[in-house]
Order: sequence, then C-alpha cells, then structure tokens
Amino acid sequence: WQPYLPLAGLLSATEVVSHWTAVFEKRGIPEAQASSEYIVAHVLGAKTFQSLRPVLRTQPLSPWQLQHVQKLSSCRLQRMPVQYILGEWDFQGLSLKMAPPVFIPRPETEELVEWVLKEVTQSSCPMGAQGGPLILEVGCGSGAISLSLLSQLPQSRVIAVDKGEAAICLTQENAQRLRLLDRIQIVPLDVTLEGSWSHLLPWGPMDLVVSNPPYIFHQDMEQLAPEIRSYEDPVALDGGEEGMDIITHILALAPWLLKDSGSIFLEVDPRHPELVGSWLQSRPDLSLDLVAVRKDFCGRPRFLHIRRSGP
Ligand code: GLN
Repeated sequence: WQPYLPLAGLLSATEVVSHWTAVFEKRGIPEAQASSEYIVAHVLGAKTFQSLRPVLRTQPLSPWQLQHVQKLSSCRLQRMPVQYILGEWDFQGLSLKMAPPVFIPRPETEELVEWVLKEVTQSSCPMGAQGGPLILEVGCGSGAISLSLLSQLPQSRVIAVDKGEAAICLTQENAQRLRLLDRIQIVPLDVTLEGSWSHLLPWGPMDLVVSNPPYIFHQDMEQLAPEIRSYEDPVALDGGEEGMDIITHILALAPWLLKDSGSIFLEVDPRHPELVGSWLQSRPDLSLDLVAVRKDFCGRPRFLHIRRSGP
C-alpha cells in the first residue's frame, strides 16, 4: 500500500488534505485531519486551511507543492509534532518560531498568561518602579510566556532563564522577531545550581516570578505520547519523583528573587496544589502563602498563585 501521491495528479488542496487524512488515520496518527490541513495550508502560505481562499482550495497543487506536502507529511508519519513540522506556532496571538527539542507551548499555558495579566492589570500585584512589573520567567523554552507578557504589558521588563542552550537561542530569536529585545534579558541558567543568582538581578528583586516548570512525575514520563517522548527535551518535562524538583527550587529561592510582597505564578500537575501546600507549611521561613489555585479548561487544578508575605 502506497501512501505517496503521484506527482502529476492535478490534485486540489482539498483532495490532498483528504488523501493525507486517510493515510494518517490508517497509520493511527493522532489528529489526522488537523495535521494534514495544517501541512497543506502551510505549503500554500496560510496558517489554517479554513483561512485559505476558496480558489486556492480547488486549484491543483504544483508538483513542487505536492512534493513539499509529501515531505512534511512523512515527518508527521514519524510522529513529529505539527508545531515542529511547520516551524512556527501561535501563542497568545504571537507567531513564535518552534524547533525541536525546545518545549512546545500548550494551550493551558495561555490560561496561565491570561491569569497573570488579569492579576497585574487589576493590580493586586505590585508594580515596578518605572510603572511596569519586573518579571522573572524560569524555564523560558521558546519564550512564549515571557514574550506574551512583554507584548501585553508595555511597561514590563523580563528576565528569562533556561538551562537549555537551544531554548535560550530560540527565545532570543523569537524576541528579535517580535522586536521585544529591548525589554528582555535572556540568561542561560540552571536554577538547581547554587550561587548564580546574585548577578541575575540587575534591576533588584522582582515583582513576579512566572514558570511552567518541568512538573511531570518521573514515573509518568514513559506514558507520554510518542510526539512528546521522541521530540521534546525530557529536561523540560521531568519534574523528578513527585514532579516537584524544580518547583521547590523556585520556591526556596523566593526570598532572594522576590520583593517582599511579590508573587509567584506556576503551572503544575493537578496533584501539586496539595503537595505544594504542605511543602510550604514545612517551610515557614520562606514566608510564602498559597493564595489561589485555578483550574484549566478541562477543570483540572493547574495554576498556583503564591505570594510572599514579608522579609
Ligand atoms: N503539560 C505538559 C505535558 O503534559 C507538561 C508541561 C510541563 O512539564 N511543564 O506535556
């Protein structure tokens, strides 16, 4: 059985989408139709198939375009995530470059950004001296959180850290694409290593720390979809035995990183609100309170707001 199309078939975009949808379904590729629509739209210079002008959907693809679709579709047959195949993905209305193995921002994380924006603009969180908050993002990956906060908070400044070189480069590239380089410092840093923080705070302590840290329980790593397991950096996902390794490092650094009434916003596993709550009780020296837990769009407790309540 031959999944490949003859090159001179005079096939329209709609027919090519149907062909590859059927191939993907047959091979058990998740999101078969969405995958083939994204690929065909991309080759025709559009973001989504729905946004293609009707004439472009019915017009035959050129042999070169068919070949391009074929090449990208064979990556999908290897379970490459569509975000890496297209090389870009939208997050909070920003078009970000994506490249393996840098973590692909998930839709849940857009809810984290929206929550932070709401809290900052309603100003239960303090503002920085120049009118906008100073924000630290731990584990910036492609820069999705930092760059969307910067673009929606025109006065804010961000320090984005990540221990992966590929992540640092990608955040840098995305900041450049979006012309946001003047308000962001991008620093290669491993939060679990002692002593590298002092030089990191050129603007003094921060108003906010935001992070979607690696939080998957180590024993759950093997159950991840092949798209994740084979392509994304496990370092961005594996949070250790109880998924808390990086979370607790961030919390323990709060007295050095945060202003006295600063806030931490985290994306976590649904089991974490309880675990983080009891961990904080065991560390009264940090003066941190879990002030709110928020659910994601699937109704799972997913986001934490932790506030510092003193020196
Ligand atoms: N939500 C992600 C996933 O399930 C994990 C995110 C993370 O560890 N930060 O793939």
